[in-house]
Amino acid sequence: MNVLVFNSGSSSVKYTCFGARDGRALAWGIVERIGQPGAVHRHQVEDRPPLERPVEAADAGRAVGVITPWLTHPDQGVFGSLSDVQAVGHRIVHGGEKMTRAVVVDEEVKAVIREYCDLAPLHNPPGLMTLQAAQAVFSCQPHVAVFDTAFHATIPEHAFLYGLPHEYYGRDKIRRYGFHGLSHGYVSREAARFLGRPIESLRMITCHLGNGCSVTAVDGGRSVDTSMGFTPLEGLIMGTRCGDIDPALVLYLMERKGLSVSEVNDLLNKQSGLKGLSGIGSGDLRDVESAGRAGNRRAKTALAAFCYRIRKYVGAYMAVLGGAEAIVFTAGIGENAPTVRRAVCDGLPDLAGGRLALDPLKNEAPADGIREVQAGAGGIRVLVVPTDEEREIAGQTRRLLAERR
Ligand code: ADP
Repeated sequence: MNVLVFNSGSSSVKYTCFGARDGRALAWGIVERIGQPGAVHRHQVEDRPPLERPVEAADAGRAVGVITPWLTHPDQGVFGSLSDVQAVGHRIVHGGEKMTRAVVVDEEVKAVIREYCDLAPLHNPPGLMTLQAAQAVFSCQPHVAVFDTAFHATIPEHAFLYGLPHEYYGRDKIRRYGFHGLSHGYVSREAARFLGRPIESLRMITCHLGNGCSVTAVDGGRSVDTSMGFTPLEGLIMGTRCGDIDPALVLYLMERKGLSVSEVNDLLNKQSGLKGLSGIGSGDLRDVESAGRAGNRRAKTALAAFCYRIRKYVGAYMAVLGGAEAIVFTAGIGENAPTVRRAVCDGLPDLAGGRLALDPLKNEAPADGIREVQAGAGGIRVLVVPTDEEREIAGQTRRLLAERR
């Protein structure tokens, strides 16, 4: 089945065409800076150089209109006609408690996505807009919505509740939901495949470290806890987000420092994390690492705080799982930053009472597919697994449609 996947972010729409024959990615691309001056479309067909061109894209719906003609372009297309696309998969960030797995889109599903726009105001609205625009173009094909929160639907109540009066959960659905579920689900299954063990027999801690960062405790393939919460702000220190803080700090900033709601929002989401701690004006790990190497003390402290928080969560999830057979690193930082992996793992308690150590050569070798980087193979396995959210969406789309036949 040829599957077209859309993955819309707050200001971008990514897409990938997966071929029916062997599930390979045939073409992929992105429209970036949607709704801003200087929007660009990048498009690449397997084995050919990428193309980039300026485009007009006022919103995610228009971005779909920019993308679809390129799928059948005489030189840069991969399909003879748009009817060659047999199914369309969509990443939707928030499905709340109602969406615990992928679903075929109907009016009810769209109503749920709309309902959760309040909880994911930057992501669900463009996701819905992409979905509606794609339904207009691919009106005869099934559309499948795949949710980032769904993988975490198995987290037990004692782990997802906040210590608030119960009606805030019962009435307002205020609880921890977790995010990055497509990535945590994908890399945990890939890790089990690499280890040659049934996923049901494995306890894993998966670390998705990109611009946004989260850690998940995965027990037998099911998420049992994760570091992000009601929103993606909770948990780890991230590129520009603060992660866990004392909630009373928000009151203090507003009451004593006179910050408005939008100023606090901007501070915690956009000015904090590696960017705020380092003070170098960038939350990109590469920039912070190079400032640290050049002797910038605050950049070094930012890196230490970033790694310490991850290590603390990994330790907590070892306690949650009662031990772990594998720790998995993924996303831009997890796949490419050996210093972070070392700072998180070296010296953690290993399975047989020893201490975990990474093999410096393996850990520092350039990224190349799935690999293991710990010294020895008798204790906890430390894996680097490239994530692929688009492939996960295509896989869930195919599986769901096959079940319904
Ligand atoms: P997003 O969450 O936007 O998908 P990515 O998964 O692409 O983000 O991760 C972005 C982060 O990965 C940035 O902090 C970037 O510095 C880091 N990163 C990417 N490549 C490298 C590298 N070679 N070495 C260290 N960090 C890297």
